[in-house]
Amino acid sequence: MERKREFKVLIDLEKQNRLNTEGCPACGKKFSLGDEVVLARGRWHGYKYIHQNEAVFDKHANKHYERGYYRTKKGMSP
Ligand SMILES: [Zn+2]
Repeated sequence: MERKREFKVLIDLEKQNRLNTEGCPACGKKFSLGDEVVLARGRWHGYKYIHQNEAVFDKHANKHYERGYYRTKKGMSP
């Protein structure tokens, strides 16, 4: 599934400066240069950049979700 790779983004200086005012909404840590991030849905409104390893890709929805949020979502609608 090569599609998945298209979503991946690397943290550059511009993103680091912009995103680190809040940090990563999934783990609460700051982003580092070169971190792999994806735009994902989560407990927040809309899409936010989170670390790629904290996201799950949903093939049906064709988008990323934050892991914990995805589990909860799945649990509610089996
Ligand atoms: Zn994170």
